[in-house]
Amino acid sequence: MATILDGKKIADMRLEILKKEIEDSGFYPRLATVIVGADPASQMYIRMKHRACERVGIGLVGMELAGDATTEQVLKAVTQLNNDTGINGILIQFPLPKQIDTERVITAVHPKKDVDGFHPFNLGLLFSARPRFVPCTPQGIMTLLAEYRVELAGTRAVVVGRSIDVGRPMSALFTNADATVTLCHSKTKNLAEEIKQADILVSAIGKAHFITREMVKHGAVVIDVGINQLNGKLVGDVDFEKVQNVASAISPVPCGVGPMTIATLMENTYRAASLRTCDTV
Ligand code: NAP
Repeated sequence: MATILDGKKIADMRLEILKKEIEDSGFYPRLATVIVGADPASQMYIRMKHRACERVGIGLVGMELAGDATTEQVLKAVTQLNNDTGINGILIQFPLPKQIDTERVITAVHPKKDVDGFHPFNLGLLFSARPRFVPCTPQGIMTLLAEYRVELAGTRAVVVGRSIDVGRPMSALFTNADATVTLCHSKTKNLAEEIKQADILVSAIGKAHFITREMVKHGAVVIDVGINQLNGKLVGDVDFEKVQNVASAISPVPCGVGPMTIATLMENTYRAASLRTCDTV
């Protein structure tokens, strides 16, 4: 039976350590969150992030814009937060409503306040193997793997899904950790064969139980990023019940990657507060 990679337990532990570190630091990190519209899922995610801030002692500024806000209005809010020296990190809750130019908003966030790590400057640093702010989900996965002493160097890592927030930065992190990486997506030929090669498998596609037992190599470490509803239940991309019988380790949904993502956001915010003002962008 596989080891369960308990993201909830590890995230709780990391948050306790961070709380103490913040108390001892003399810093008072502050995070600004920006939400546009009233999408229930986005509001739930923002509430979870706010709760984590309260828990570790990170101050909060919550900005809410109407669902019909324009790109210019969102950019104005971001500029205001960029210029506010009391704010260390800025988190935009995605997805933004369709009328908003998401790329312009991402690029408007000052790279030193980009605690989500989505700014092209920070992604460039990551892909140059000099990471500063790394997107929270893949960085959280790295922390989870490190906490469970999963060796990456020399392994074959397969990442399914190539989004900017998960798959692409995940592939860079694995490359930086000396794994040999295959990044798969919807146009990948012979996907099942690619997946079967994986010593470390990360699925981030958003399709319930897409990864079956037959696809997974015996002894693989399986990380499930997906968040899907199936028959009224929250499930991942991986058929957990069956895959746990072939994997050596597996992250559950819920209580796997999700809590690690939020803990990493807190860690990134603290890092932003610790950046010296003389550091280059
Ligand atoms: P996304 O931007 O929608 O990207 C999905 C990726 O999956 C795309 O690269 C797509 O390929 C690929 N894909 C879709 N169907 C596929 C198929 N049949 N075979 C192979 N590849 C396929 O998604 P995302 O933002 O990365 O999120 C993915 C999932 O993770 C969602 O369920 C999301 O809710 C969840 N998520 C969880 C967390 C967390 O903290 N737990 C954080 C972020 C996301 P193409 O590029 O070719 O279209």
